Amino acid sequence: MLEVPTIIGLGLGFDGSANWVNKFIVDPYLFGIKSEDFNPETHGLLRKFLVIWGFLLVMTYLFYFTFCPLTYYFLFKRKDKKTGENKANWFQREGKDQVKNEIKTSLWSIAVMTAMTAPFELLVESGKTKIYWDLNEHGGKLYAFVIAPIMFVAFSDTCIYWIHRGLHHKKLYKPLHKLHHRYKETTPFSAYAFHPIDGWLQGCPYHIFVFLFPMHHVAYFISLACVGMWTINIHDRVTWNLPFVNGAAHHTVHHTGFNYNYGQYLVFWDKLGGSYRDPFVTAPYNGTPLDKEKRFKTS
Ligand SMILES: [Zn+2]
Ligand SMILES: [Zn+2]
Repeated sequence: MLEVPTIIGLGLGFDGSANWVNKFIVDPYLFGIKSEDFNPETHGLLRKFLVIWGFLLVMTYLFYFTFCPLTYYFLFKRKDKKTGENKANWFQREGKDQVKNEIKTSLWSIAVMTAMTAPFELLVESGKTKIYWDLNEHGGKLYAFVIAPIMFVAFSDTCIYWIHRGLHHKKLYKPLHKLHHRYKETTPFSAYAFHPIDGWLQGCPYHIFVFLFPMHHVAYFISLACVGMWTINIHDRVTWNLPFVNGAAHHTVHHTGFNYNYGQYLVFWDKLGGSYRDPFVTAPYNGTPLDKEKRFKTS
């Protein structure tokens, strides 16, 4: 779920952008070293960590402050010319000051989550994962762009279902996951408003996958970008009704109904684990409003 714009930065990072940042920004502007004298061998672990953290942080904020406001504008603000309504405007809007609170939570959470994600990037950079660059390896395009991404979705959806379900255990819910569940009528800005450990835990499967299975670097980057967008999509309340897919309606019901629809991409594990609830027969997607007391309150 979350942690996720961070991995957009991570995607760029493992493709050599961290080196680019070192060569053209950190070396010349902080240490006065010309780009022709660039030598990554001289960089200590602390410097590598700080550069990667800074890079992930900037990329994540850029992602968050580009796609969340855009989605919010098109779905929550802009009025349809024919109906005069917003796309996400059913019976009531998100709580007063909710978006402000979501942005505030996301700002500090992203700062901590990116620091916790930086060690993964250090491992990627030092070649410890199964990310590969030659398309001819591992069965060519079929594996790279079809089989591996399907495995990626199946693996992360399975892990996230169980991690998320674990986060609803009474011992973990209050300290870690409750922060994200303050928002009942979610907005695109809810997508990264997590306790950092919560968001990081749910982001771990994406990193672990490339330690276990080979993945072409372009396919990995595209998959991570999709993960980032998907997280916004399931919080924007505007939904498609596709078979097997856990969409915005399913995730809205997770926020309002609490013990249902833990999945991220598919409904497979929810159906198997007895936690599936059809969102289209449940408020607000069945045409009835949510209970008033379920609305977001700042206090
Ligand atoms: Zn939850
Ligand atoms: Zn959520």
